[in-house]
Amino acid sequence: MSETRHNWTKEEILAIYNKPMMELLYDAATIHRKHHDPNTVQVSTLLSIKTGGCPEDCGYCPQAARYHTDVEGNDLMSVNQVKAQALRAKASGSSRVCMGAAWRNVKDGPEFDQVLEMVRTINKLDMEVCCTLGMITENQAHRLAEAGLYAYNHNLDSSEEYYKEVISTRGFEDRLETIDNVRKTNVTVCSGGIIGMGEAIEDRAGMLVALSTLNPQPESVPINALVAVDGTPLEDQKPVSIWEMVRMVATTRVVMPETQVRLSAGRTQMSQEGQTMCFFAGANSIFAGDKLLTTPNPDVNEDMKLFELLGLNPQKPFIKKMQPKTVEAEDSQYKDLGEKPKWTRPSHTIERNEVKKQEAKQVKA
Ligand code: SF4
Repeated sequence: MSETRHNWTKEEILAIYNKPMMELLYDAATIHRKHHDPNTVQVSTLLSIKTGGCPEDCGYCPQAARYHTDVEGNDLMSVNQVKAQALRAKASGSSRVCMGAAWRNVKDGPEFDQVLEMVRTINKLDMEVCCTLGMITENQAHRLAEAGLYAYNHNLDSSEEYYKEVISTRGFEDRLETIDNVRKTNVTVCSGGIIGMGEAIEDRAGMLVALSTLNPQPESVPINALVAVDGTPLEDQKPVSIWEMVRMVATTRVVMPETQVRLSAGRTQMSQEGQTMCFFAGANSIFAGDKLLTTPNPDVNEDMKLFELLGLNPQKPFIKKMQPKTVEAEDSQYKDLGEKPKWTRPSHTIERNEVKKQEAKQVKA
């Protein structure tokens, strides 16, 4: 029951998701213990290195330029600013820094060179480095790998079918292509999604089919509960219940036994007991820090108090995979190709996204 399979069907996953809760928890916890230390949780710090002004129309995202939200945009941070934040994260127990930039895709040039330098700098602090920068080409993936990147995050967000109801400015297949590009290097893959966007349970199962049938499966799968932000098209979505979150975490654990299941956005809405249920159901990673890019997150001291209460230990870096070597910029084998890749621009529109775009225009006028 706990062997890694790459042929899960939607029906099988739905059957797991809908099991009586006690059976689901028992199955997930049993598989979890077989593949992981149940008392260890990996702690990552998410850092927004370039905030807001994104050209995409992701219906959940306050960083999309087209919506009117309270997010204040920032240009790309300096390497020194990032280093200072990484040192702070390390001191508070994080083993990984994940740097997020609100870009559609990475463009070769000085900004990408600066990100590569950030990757080198954090790797030299003996921390795992992850980036989430949008779509990347194979060459860019190699350049990140050479700089010492440990993981690349690129979420599938939802099922292929429901993806079209949330985002119209790029296609699901572009997401898979970026993951494929990352897989051509030794960088690990972090890819998951969001529940609570109005999707059906079948869509949650569909997303898990897409992730679990990747071979290899992603080393890390973040499960986010939507944080509905005012001004975004999904602002009126009701929060998901803790039971849905527990079911999603447990099902993810069962179908991807070796993966690190990451409890991500939405933790502020969960009680300590709810988070504990998620850990029992197989979650073994959290994001620390008071902000998750732009949305609120529990205070790191609160997290450490909960860890103490539960006897959980933060995972040390490079337990699952060796620390990547860092190649300096001048010794790089990979050139800046100045490529202008053609990522998909689907032609459909999403009514609620268009409505929010118009409302934002009126507010700004
Ligand atoms: S989720 Fe990422 S790609 Fe989508 S609008 Fe936000 S920053 Fe842009």
